[in-house]
Amino acid sequence: GSRRIGRNTCHFYSTDLQALLLERHHLRNQLHQAMDRREFWLAYQPIIQLNSLQAAGMECLLRWRKPQLGNPGPDQFIPLAEESGLIHPLGNWVLQQAMDEMHELLQQQTGLRLAINLSPRQFWDQQLGNRLLQQLETLQLLPTQLELEITEGTALQDPDTAIRLLNELKRAGISLAMDDFGTGYSSLAYLQDLPVNRVKLDRHFVQGIGQDQRQELIITSLVRLAKDLGKEVVAEGVETDEQLAFLQAIGCPLAQGYFFARPMPGTALQEWYQDKNKRRD
Ligand code: C2E
Ligand code: MG
Ligand code: MG
Ligand code: MG
Repeated sequence: GSRRIGRNTCHFYSTDLQALLLERHHLRNQLHQAMDRREFWLAYQPIIQLNSLQAAGMECLLRWRKPQLGNPGPDQFIPLAEESGLIHPLGNWVLQQAMDEMHELLQQQTGLRLAINLSPRQFWDQQLGNRLLQQLETLQLLPTQLELEITEGTALQDPDTAIRLLNELKRAGISLAMDDFGTGYSSLAYLQDLPVNRVKLDRHFVQGIGQDQRQELIITSLVRLAKDLGKEVVAEGVETDEQLAFLQAIGCPLAQGYFFARPMPGTALQEWYQDKNKRRD
């Protein structure tokens, strides 16, 4: 059958293992050429303050323009880049490109924060912090305007070292977020030890709003717990006004999702932002 790799399908239609391995090999080769061929681009999704419905910042999401392969999503190719080590040059490109593209907006609006996802190998790179601080200084951006998102899986690989590295970044003023919270295996007690400013609630919790009372109870408790631990919560994947109303009612401070805006190219994000400001005046 067809072995097209669609944006939202992470399985292969062929059951033949040989074909599957060939596909991975092919994908990896294509991935290695993609940087030189300038096939990567960055999308940005606004992060919204729920009390004012104003933008608090944006999350940068990597895209690969490769129609022959069905434009694979980052969930499909980041793991391959991670395995092969390509993640280092690719991740550095993302950081530099995102800071360049958002530079003007961030300088105009110093309260805005640019969030960037880090995969495990990027996070464990001991030079990361110093490199980032240099880049920020060159661009005259505040460390507080940069937010690094790591998953609990990353931190759990080596919790003690993770806490040390996170503390170093935090002391330098860089903001930190625990991504996909609630999808892994870490205990709630562990959250208390992690020096992160924010917790991002995975979108499967948000999907349960209006559908599943237990999910609603969990969200309500997590928002309160995070607040008590001095952390902000970002609810991911808000798609309906009902979900928004629920999150506002329980005092969740921040959210992102298709209801507000889809991930979009940097130029579109700037227009979106200007448009939102205009309507506020
Ligand atoms: P994530 O960091 O949890 O990002 C949120 C994902 O949810 C994004 O998927 C985003 O497009 C999607 N999303 C946002 N709002 C909604 C919504 O309302 N409904 C639904 N159904 N989805 C929504 P995306 O862009 O495919 O990224 C997937 C994952 O890939 C990210 O999850 C992140 O872990 C990783 N990733 C993306 N860009 C990068 C990158 O530059 N570096 C690294 N290391 N990982 C990245
Ligand atoms: Mg993220
Ligand atoms: Mg997430
Ligand atoms: Mg995710």
